[in-house]
Amino acid sequence: MSTQGSDALAAEQHGLDHWRTLPATQQPTWPDPDVLNHVLEELSATPPLVFAGEADDLKARMAAAAAGEAFVLQGGDCAESFADATADRIRAKIMTILQMAVVLTYGASLPIVKMGRMAGQYAKPRSSDTEVRDGIELPSFRGEAVNAHAFTPESRIPDPWRLLKAYHASASTLNLIRAFTSGGFADLRRVHEWNKGFMTNPAYKRYEKLAQEIDGAIRFMAAAGVDFEALKTVDFYSSHEALLLDYERALTRIDSRTGQPYNCSAHFVWIGERTRQIDGAHVDLLSRVRNPIGVKLGPTTTPDDALRLAERLNPEGEPGRLTFITRMGASAIREVLPPILHKVHEEAGPVTWICDPMHGNTITSSSGYKTRRFTDILEEVRGFFDAHAEAATNPGGLHVELTGDDVTECLGGSEEIDDLGLCRRYETLVDPRLNHQQSLEMAFAVAEMLHP
Ligand code: PEP
Ligand code: MN
Repeated sequence: MSTQGSDALAAEQHGLDHWRTLPATQQPTWPDPDVLNHVLEELSATPPLVFAGEADDLKARMAAAAAGEAFVLQGGDCAESFADATADRIRAKIMTILQMAVVLTYGASLPIVKMGRMAGQYAKPRSSDTEVRDGIELPSFRGEAVNAHAFTPESRIPDPWRLLKAYHASASTLNLIRAFTSGGFADLRRVHEWNKGFMTNPAYKRYEKLAQEIDGAIRFMAAAGVDFEALKTVDFYSSHEALLLDYERALTRIDSRTGQPYNCSAHFVWIGERTRQIDGAHVDLLSRVRNPIGVKLGPTTTPDDALRLAERLNPEGEPGRLTFITRMGASAIREVLPPILHKVHEEAGPVTWICDPMHGNTITSSSGYKTRRFTDILEEVRGFFDAHAEAATNPGGLHVELTGDDVTECLGGSEEIDDLGLCRRYETLVDPRLNHQQSLEMAFAVAEMLHP
């Protein structure tokens, strides 16, 4: 039997198309099904972006984070854009995540699992199907894998060819990620030098003590003869929200080694807050792949909701398989999270818990921008650690919307971006991101929480 024929049989045995019979929210209305089918056929024949063995390695690391033996840092844009998939912007984002990781390694005294919201984060769920501006109503922007951001009728028409473009942009981004993180770029000494650069800004004086401690630790390592050459390469994983089911299905492949299905569009994929219906199509498709997967949990989640998701998505209790990414909001987390932690801990298999302190803290500034306060973001992280301390569970990591550039999208931080400052460089396509400085400051602030 041909490989394709046997793959089709395996796909059927694994029920990889069962989701098609279930309600799927947040899917675009493509104007021409023939074009869509043509594109999906092409996508199904493309090489995988990641390999099953890599996803398994990440799963083992996520299991370590669940057990309190590692800490995850997942970061990147709310929505990637094709225009920003340039070497400079990708490098800046990787550099920011690596810099944060060094600070967090010291704070947590744990290995940091590094994961980008990168190389595939091209689709967005929206609260409304349409957007109205000055009395004109157009389809909402759903991410560059679907339509374009410009507010014109032509750009907002969903175009299936964009799915293929998203695949190729993801491939070239991942290619750069792999190059940067296996060359000298990730050298610990080099990343540490960048962090020293951050400290020359007087705004960050309050983190000086911690910065000096990290400096001392690295000098101690050098004196003790640590092999820095061996620390030149880091593992860096890709992730995105598995939103567009046609795309995710086309990139789902049968691993020739094990015969098991893997979503080969990224190492880790997650289900968003708006698409986590227990009987819905998203939960069904991801229940059938072997990758480590995540589910966002918002402030209306009940302990029973979380338990049912855990039973559905990780019935065998496989360590590292399931991550809950909580995004409750700074004012709700202390109340909502502990009963969920208790229930899941007592009645489900192991779960990795990650804090997304961004999505529950979105506000509109008086100047009219969708933004977030740096203080609220830190407060949610604090509430996350407190909730885990109360429930005696392990806080496993952070999920952050960030960029390596000097944008002005979130309020505050030591550089004090205010309402009026937001307009200086507000560039995000959807949600506000921490800029480079705010991201590093967050790492220092969280390191202090972990290492008081
Ligand atoms: C996101 O991560 O950009 C997002 C839409 O999150 P959530 O599903 O938590 O709202
Ligand atoms: Mn977002």
